[in-house]
Amino acid sequence: MVRVISSEDAEPEFRRRSVSGVGLFIAESAAETMIQAADDDAMRDSETMGLMIGRAYRDDSGEYAVVERVITSDRIADSDGVRFDPEGMSELIDGVDGMSEGERIVGWYHSHLGCGCFMSDTDVSTQHSVFGKGMGFAVVIDPLRGEFAVFDNSEIPEKAQMVIVQ
Ligand SMILES: [Zn+2]
Repeated sequence: MVRVISSEDAEPEFRRRSVSGVGLFIAESAAETMIQAADDDAMRDSETMGLMIGRAYRDDSGEYAVVERVITSDRIADSDGVRFDPEGMSELIDGVDGMSEGERIVGWYHSHLGCGCFMSDTDVSTQHSVFGKGMGFAVVIDPLRGEFAVFDNSEIPEKAQMVIVQ
């Protein structure tokens, strides 16, 4: 995957989070879009993938993010893996170009087909190559098991607390 994080990301605005201990807040519409994409691609026996766009904030207990929407583009996928099709990145680039001021890529999502929600070695290296040492959440969805999990960007990504917001 391309490195999509800009070094121009501004310092996150100070705003107290609405639920303490939660690292990632996801707009209901964005969560629905991710779950629907995971379901649709599972019908084709494929994993899905995309990027989460939103805003980063900080409060006394550190940084957190709010996902407002998700973007994706053409993918090369089967039941064991997924990547963006390098020939079809225009949708993704348009999505990134269309970000308004203060918006940034706060994470990525992908699905697993029936093996549960965890970060594989490939997932961890994707995560670190895209987000470096900055903030970047990974949503993993298993539509076959009906599971949804969020991981942070630690050296060994750990499950993070997540809340769906309206
Ligand atoms: Zn994975």
